[in-house]
Amino acid sequence: MARKLNLADRERILAEAGYRCTVPTCRALHDLDAHPLDDREELVCLCANCYRRFEREGQPGSGVMRTYKARLLELGRALSRESIDQLLYLSKLEWLAVSGDKVLEAAALLNAGYLYADYKTAPQYRLRLTLKGRQFIAAWQDGEHADRDH
Ligand SMILES: [Zn+2]
Repeated sequence: MARKLNLADRERILAEAGYRCTVPTCRALHDLDAHPLDDREELVCLCANCYRRFEREGQPGSGVMRTYKARLLELGRALSRESIDQLLYLSKLEWLAVSGDKVLEAAALLNAGYLYADYKTAPQYRLRLTLKGRQFIAAWQDGEHADRDH
């Protein structure tokens, strides 16, 4: 059983993860807690379901979990929580029709080359992930270090 966490550690870990589960295919908002990885020192924010899978089935492995956490910390410094959610949500769609103000709200992801806005359909626009965006999401969800091909 995990050692008793102090509240400041728990709060810091949850805040780092944006108060969402660290597993990129999950990102649940509920039943979150700071759980230890295999070395019992490093903590990761997981929902109850993902923690159960990790503890009982070893899925994903702690190496992948570390990559999930590292990638999320990196993204959290570069992007708002909303942008991270937007990127993950759009990765599940072929495209999404939006108004012009939503294109501007996605500027960080458009500038990073992860999203593309189709202007041919103006005043509605189609937001979609670029190949770079899809590769980034796939590498993140696989727990790979995506830096190798940059
Ligand atoms: Zn989860």
